[in-house]
Amino acid sequence: MRNEDRDLTGGIGILGGTFDPIHLGHTQVARAVKDHYNLSLVFIVPVYINPLRLEQEISAGIDDRLVMVHLATLDESWLWVDSIEIDRGREHAEVSYTIETLQHFKAEYPGTPLVLITGSDNVTFHIWARIDEFPKYLDRIAVVSRPEYEKKMETDVALVNQNCPEVAELIEFLSLVNNPVSSTNIRESFKDGFIPSNSLYPDVERYIRKYGLYGTKGGPL
Ligand code: ATP
Ligand code: MG
Repeated sequence: MRNEDRDLTGGIGILGGTFDPIHLGHTQVARAVKDHYNLSLVFIVPVYINPLRLEQEISAGIDDRLVMVHLATLDESWLWVDSIEIDRGREHAEVSYTIETLQHFKAEYPGTPLVLITGSDNVTFHIWARIDEFPKYLDRIAVVSRPEYEKKMETDVALVNQNCPEVAELIEFLSLVNNPVSSTNIRESFKDGFIPSNSLYPDVERYIRKYGLYGTKGGPL
């Protein structure tokens, strides 16, 4: 972990993910990291296809995931959506690699510190493509605590330390949120006919129900 306290004021946070669907845990994480480093903006970056997750049972389409992230970020002036991975994926029919996304942000915002944001379930950096190049683009990796993943994270972090120590140096662990909400639970709840309470933006829930996502009825009739 890096010892010096880098000034990330004015920097940009990047929160990638499937967002299937986006939930209040995601926006809570984005806000907590923004406040912690006093960042100017956070970008939600929905993945086109995650190379580490090629199969998923119940899933919304790419367009629906994109609409939902827009709905959930509309009211926050500092929270934006960047559709680079979806645009690139559509154009080249390719899986998404975070390194290419970092290159995109570095080119768009030269000189601005970049902070990659993940939850503690997602610290398998040692198997991410071209991970050795990450320190060229990133000032920090903010790993936000997520209940029930602490043990798994310890194992992953040991592997990151071992295989890519320069990336491990960028990591800062932040115990800021501890919200157990997950998209998997939300999809399951809808499938089982429950209303997942306090986990979705109202407009996102309305969208899911209107368009019949995740096994809800939906449709005009
Ligand atoms: P799924 O259950 O489908 O994997 P998810 O809730 O994990 O969905 P993702 O889209 O996979 O959502 O997550 C995007 C990013 O947000 C990941 O880095 C993930 O670790 C982080 N994240 C999601 N939910 C939380 C949470 N409740 N607390 C902290 N981080 C979270
Ligand atoms: Mg996940």
